[in-house]
Amino acid sequence: MKKTVASRPHDLFIFDAHCDTASVLFDQPLSFSRNPAHLDLQKIKKGGLQAQIFALWVDPLLAPHRAMKKALLLLQTMEQKVFAPRYAVKVTDPAEMDAARRKKKLAAWLFLEGGHIIENSPEILHIFFSLGVRGMTLTHSKNTDWADSTTDKPRVRGLTALGREIVGQMAAMGMAIDVSHASDRTIASVLETTPVPIMASHSNARKLCPIPRNLTDDFIRAIAARRGFIGVNFCPAFVKRRVFDQIEENFATFAQEIKEKTRGRLDDPEFLSQVEWDYFLRSVAGTDRVTIDEVIDHIIHIASTGGLDCVGLGSDFDGIPSTPAGLGNAAAYPALVAALQKRGFREREIRKICGLNLAGFLGRVKSAGRKN
Ligand SMILES: [Zn+2]
Repeated sequence: MKKTVASRPHDLFIFDAHCDTASVLFDQPLSFSRNPAHLDLQKIKKGGLQAQIFALWVDPLLAPHRAMKKALLLLQTMEQKVFAPRYAVKVTDPAEMDAARRKKKLAAWLFLEGGHIIENSPEILHIFFSLGVRGMTLTHSKNTDWADSTTDKPRVRGLTALGREIVGQMAAMGMAIDVSHASDRTIASVLETTPVPIMASHSNARKLCPIPRNLTDDFIRAIAARRGFIGVNFCPAFVKRRVFDQIEENFATFAQEIKEKTRGRLDDPEFLSQVEWDYFLRSVAGTDRVTIDEVIDHIIHIASTGGLDCVGLGSDFDGIPSTPAGLGNAAAYPALVAALQKRGFREREIRKICGLNLAGFLGRVKSAGRKN
């Protein structure tokens, strides 16, 4: 019998576009070599993960004056806990990624998550670029001064002049423009502002899970048309609307409790951020499980809407409070590969979805930057 790719997943180049492992390693005294969270060296080996974009995520509650410091501390955590012990190699372009892979090391890209980190300053963006950061989500869950988030009240209705300046500079320096978390108006403004390929590193299809955090078919087509990239998020609430609603309902029941807990501490963003996350975790308890096949439904929808070359993985491991059944951490990628094959994807297509599409996208971002 012919050996299939599912029976030898380690031959595959698996490259994921989003994880929050930096936050886990910052918050807890854990090692990257072995830990109980979603991503460590053992799980990476088992799962065949060869490259990963690590987000330096900063809670918007820390804006405006503590966000940049937090991002730098997260970068320092990555240096100390991941790069210094040589568990992974920091990479800034496709050639460095290939070199890391040849040495059998995990290739680690760094992105900023949340435009509030740069404190309205294109100069700070350049500083992060020189520190090796190669992408940024324009917003997180709250608006920045220059871009609206999809989970906040519309304020600037897209990008301001400063927002367009920042996006233009990202394109020119070869930094990936990531529209996950951005509002529809913001995404439309980005598409008008620059012709370079853009990405939604960890977003799903709104058609299948109708929440604002996911992408409309029109945006899937527009991102694909300029040879961009969309990474499918494993978060059950973004895969299935019912789970999203269950979490919202549960969270609402804690409103009074949260109010009491945070009384007198409203000027302490680290504390507020922790309380919010704790209650979010409690809100997830008892919600429906989703299956690997329901994640694959999003891959299929995005591929059939934008074409097979635009879709890939954006797990959000270590940033999501629950996971699909059978896809509990980075060791589970072979199960995803097997399920893709079962759904009829050919080996060539699985290779694209699992890593080649994302690698190609980052190469195009770099070349587009060089031309500017
Ligand atoms: Zn995110």
